[in-house]
Amino acid sequence: MIAVTGATGQLGRLVVEALLKRVPAGDIVAIVRTPAKAADFAARGVHVRRGDYGEPASLASALVGVERLLFISGSEVGARAKQHEAVVAAARAQKVELLAYTSILNADTTGVGLAAEHKATEAMIRASGVPFVLLRHGWYLENYTETLAPVLAHGMVFGAAGDGRVAPATRADFAAAAAAVLTTSGHEGKVYELAGDEAFSLAELAAAVSRWAGKPIGYTNLPQQAFAEALVAAGLPAPFAHALADADVGIARGDLTTESGDLRRLLGRPTETLEQVLARKPRP
Ligand code: NAP
Repeated sequence: MIAVTGATGQLGRLVVEALLKRVPAGDIVAIVRTPAKAADFAARGVHVRRGDYGEPASLASALVGVERLLFISGSEVGARAKQHEAVVAAARAQKVELLAYTSILNADTTGVGLAAEHKATEAMIRASGVPFVLLRHGWYLENYTETLAPVLAHGMVFGAAGDGRVAPATRADFAAAAAAVLTTSGHEGKVYELAGDEAFSLAELAAAVSRWAGKPIGYTNLPQQAFAEALVAAGLPAPFAHALADADVGIARGDLTTESGDLRRLLGRPTETLEQVLARKPRP
């Protein structure tokens, strides 16, 4: 049995779809907060079980009989260390044979603030004695390609990453790699640094969007605080705005790139590029 937590999230859904291409539906457990949201999976023969990171009892029953588990990090930033501890404890109690955790790229060295809960979770996993594999994810390409409305409206990408480069990959590529890890052998104890093959600066992002949209798009680099304030002014909640501005400073340092080639190797093909993803989108 292969289980996926957060299976109704954007990444989780893609992982379940990728698993369905590799194993029978009856071998897959979708662990979700709200089973009604996974009715489509249940209709296709996937086992749907309720599991909330905040409710240890639900995790214990969700993991019964599970051999391999993809633990997708939670989305409640600030509450995740305690929630993740409950997932790791349940995996240990249920004697899960392989726990794969979606951590953050370069977790050992990154200065990105969002990494703190991932570092704490990695330490819990190592201390638990549960056999593990770490899937350290870089940024999603969709962070850029699904947020283009203000870029097109202003003719400008705003950021605080300077000339730094980011190497994002699509959720679908991260999902396909996770499915490969969950259904093949030899991954126990491995730490995979997963990112796109292609790194770009935010000025290069602006140029690519400009070519795709057929209109001039520039890049304006702002100091970290000014960028965070601009994001708040645009309507983002302050903690999220500050986390994004902090991450841009991480990009300037190179925290969100890697030369590992791990994602490409797990996929057995090159990763999807910015140009390819833009080409699939309707032009504005
Ligand atoms: P998402 O669509 O927001 O999905 C998050 C998933 O976590 C959802 O399925 C959600 O359940 C589940 N979840 C949250 N709190 C939970 C809890 N207390 N108990 C059980 N499940 C809970 O995010 P995503 O795009 O799939 O990304 C997956 C994870 O990667 C995120 O949670 C976050 O840790 C991280 N992330 C990475 C990036 C990146 O660029 N690499 C960007 C954003 C987030 P529901 O379906 O019930 O809401």
